[in-house]
Amino acid sequence: MLIVSYGVLGYDDRMLQSQLFTKPRKEAPKDEVAKNAALLVRAGFIDKLQAGVYSYLPLGLLVIKKIEQIIREEINAVGGQELLMPALHPKEVWQTTGRWDSLDVLYKIKDASDREFALGPTHEEIVVPLVKQFVSSYKDLPFSVYQFQNKFRMELRAKSGILRGREFLMKDLYSFHRDEEDLKQFYEKMKGVYVRIFERCGIGAETHLTFASGGSFSQYSHEYQTVTPAGEDIIYVCGDCGVAINDEIIAKQSACPACGSTKRKSERSIEVGNIFELKTKFSDPFGLTYKDEKGDDKPVVMGCYGIGLGRVMGAVVEVFGTENAMRWPDSLSPHRLHLLELTGKGSAVDSVRKVAGDIYQKLTKAGVSVLYDDRNARAGEKFADADLIGIPHRVVVSEKLVADNKLEYLNRVTGEKKIISEIEFFRLFTNDMV
Ligand code: ATP
Ligand code: MG
Repeated sequence: MLIVSYGVLGYDDRMLQSQLFTKPRKEAPKDEVAKNAALLVRAGFIDKLQAGVYSYLPLGLLVIKKIEQIIREEINAVGGQELLMPALHPKEVWQTTGRWDSLDVLYKIKDASDREFALGPTHEEIVVPLVKQFVSSYKDLPFSVYQFQNKFRMELRAKSGILRGREFLMKDLYSFHRDEEDLKQFYEKMKGVYVRIFERCGIGAETHLTFASGGSFSQYSHEYQTVTPAGEDIIYVCGDCGVAINDEIIAKQSACPACGSTKRKSERSIEVGNIFELKTKFSDPFGLTYKDEKGDDKPVVMGCYGIGLGRVMGAVVEVFGTENAMRWPDSLSPHRLHLLELTGKGSAVDSVRKVAGDIYQKLTKAGVSVLYDDRNARAGEKFADADLIGIPHRVVVSEKLVADNKLEYLNRVTGEKKIISEIEFFRLFTNDMV
């Protein structure tokens, strides 16, 4: 009996490499200057349609779905409710806040009858009128809603690959509170949520809570900045506590706002997330109010919290990738394991295929997601492609070792390469790793 097993994502994420419609490329496209995009295009994770606009191909989409699931789990744990709002917005809501004219990145489009629309760069203008239909009393607060949704922004420079898209997937969350005290409490909780998300995405050590300008409503907003030479921002990281300050506000700030230390180091970094106290900036223009215990009308107090999923993926590539090789953290790798069969030319072709095929079946049944390189290709090509794809665990079934029931196992994270028995290998991948 064939037992079909499904991966962690709830659908069949195992894959025969010979069936994968994308093929790794030897060369990066000439016009791709960003390391993240050059590597991901070569490895067949993404495809560029035009500057700042990319398709996510099967391998790349698996990574995005894993980032999405990590974010979803952490946000659901603090009670966030998931929804999905549209990208096509009526002009009127953007006029209500004044951002139809003031937001320079807003894409504006016209239909055949000259009606104007915006392509959503963010969703305060949509979510506030939406929740207004359901909020009337203090008893309806607090709550928070979030979505994974494509945003559109007229970014002038779109040379950073998937770090800065003109169309990009964002997690945006909006929280609604009775007063600033309640907002503060939730905001602090979200800081913990963000720490756990970036930790689980493998960039916890490189990502710093960063004080940034708060605009006209609060003294600060907070960014999560990942240190990488590809970053577009400069931050000053405190040598004592690791909290950073964004360069944009450094003139006003000489000591660390978290611990007071004056020891600091400048680094290039990319903003992977942002949390912001909106207070009543958007409740006021839409009249989002509630009745308090005394029956008086009060404005709802809001916070907003964003993470760019493509930007997180790009930052991970910038941190862990080299020109010709990637090394995914286990948590984001498109597959758990890369299985390579090297048949050679000798008499062992059939036994190599049989052993590799059996391993694939067994692991798949045990729920381990495997990318199985069953292609008729040279060993050098298989190794080079596996380096590009960057699955952290690689196992090779070869002509040389098959007669002794041995395999070659490489762990890209520790760099350790060893010859192990099939039994030892199964123990490694079916016990502690599923
Ligand atoms: P930046 O300062 O980098 O332009 P922002 O401050 O305008 O970003 P927000 O409006 O706070 O960004 O968006 C929330 C998150 O969405 C950001 O922290 C980032 O992770 C992501 N993001 C923003 N703009 C882009 C983009 N053009 N491409 C990909 N991700 C983006
Ligand atoms: Mg910013």
